[in-house]
Amino acid sequence: MLGRMQTSSKTPLELSRRVSALKPSATLAVTARVRELRAEGVDVISFGAGEPDFDTPPNISQSAIDALKAGKTHYMPVAGDPAAREAIAHKLRCENDIQCTPRDIVISTGAKQSLYLAMQCLLEPGRGQEVVLPTPAWVSYRPMIELAGARVVEVPGAIDNDFKITPAQLDDAITDHTAVLVVNSPSNPCGTMYEPQELRALAEVIAARGRVIVITDEIYEKLVYGGIAHFSLGSIESIADRVVTINGLSKAYAMTGWRIGYACAPGSDGLIAAAMAKLQGQVSSNITSFCYAAVAEALGNSAGEVERMRRVFAKRAELIYQRLSAVPGVRCPRPAGAFYVFPDFSAHFGRRSAGGTLIDSSQRFAEVLLEEARVAVVPGAEFGACGEGRVRLSFACSQEQITEGCRRIDRFLRSLNNRPDS
Ligand code: PMP
Ligand code: GLU
Repeated sequence: MLGRMQTSSKTPLELSRRVSALKPSATLAVTARVRELRAEGVDVISFGAGEPDFDTPPNISQSAIDALKAGKTHYMPVAGDPAAREAIAHKLRCENDIQCTPRDIVISTGAKQSLYLAMQCLLEPGRGQEVVLPTPAWVSYRPMIELAGARVVEVPGAIDNDFKITPAQLDDAITDHTAVLVVNSPSNPCGTMYEPQELRALAEVIAARGRVIVITDEIYEKLVYGGIAHFSLGSIESIADRVVTINGLSKAYAMTGWRIGYACAPGSDGLIAAAMAKLQGQVSSNITSFCYAAVAEALGNSAGEVERMRRVFAKRAELIYQRLSAVPGVRCPRPAGAFYVFPDFSAHFGRRSAGGTLIDSSQRFAEVLLEEARVAVVPGAEFGACGEGRVRLSFACSQEQITEGCRRIDRFLRSLNNRPDS
């Protein structure tokens, strides 16, 4: 069915193989399912959506409204309005210690598009390239890498090490075929983050291993609450010219619907940034013209609002961690950044739900939890093989919902039957 569809004239339509083989985004699928159930009047607690439940700070919205009213409604330079690129370069120099100029910045329709463009520019089908992906990792990296024609090499982070990989693991994973390493700290789905010295140690491996390009996705950099300072790999001189830093406004500024992301690629004589802009010029051109004003307003004038939201997330992080850790048979690293936890429920696998379903995988667990307990989570296996046995919970929801959701999970687990065959 995926590859073939009947057109009205009964001529079979052959979709491209790369799209037929593509998996839909599991995170978006869970969010869509929750929306449907709620529209039917079902009382669902959703730990599915990876987006802040806050509204965009009013000063940011106002800046776009003003720009719209001022007639900023025309095509703009593909890589972005110069003032917005300068605001981003300034932020990266001052906050992240990344040496860059506006020429190194490409603004795209969400960090998702930035990542996609970067993969398309750096990878080539038929070259036998590999991309090292520390897992558990966000659901869209693998499809993006595969669409660009490379092979994913998963490197599993141990739960006892907060799902982080070690320099030795990285060194083992890199081969002559390695083109790219993807790093995402703070991590979706793990909710954990690397210490600066851990990133420096990974950078030493990269520096010693030739040509590998690092794509570092720092979209959750401002949502940190574990006492670990965010640190940018692009600030390390020995590898800086091989680092592509990805970030965006979606998470820190509660702007998921605006679709504003960016890449900073200062190395390789500007080749990567220019290639990304060239590709974007043939695909989508500039982002929505009157949204550029919001970039400078968000980055330059919204720190108080970001901090207010961060504090709320910090309280929720502690609450969900405490509640889940108190549930028998659940292991959960303490969240340090982003708005996710990635607990292990595998101690309960092999048991049967009150409705009679055998729980034998994270997929089944998530399905039954939604059907029988009305709690939405994303199955861990969607984030890489080592995610099996776990599920992702987003705590971008109220404290009341967190409390009620954890109560339902606890009750659900207590209601499971011990005998798989009963
Ligand atoms: N990277 C990570 C790790 C994410 O969780 C997300 C969430 N959508 C993105 C990138 C993309 O964000 P956006 O396209 O909304 O900027
Ligand atoms: N990144 C968020 C998530 O993981 C939003 C959905 C998506 O783009 O995957 O849930």
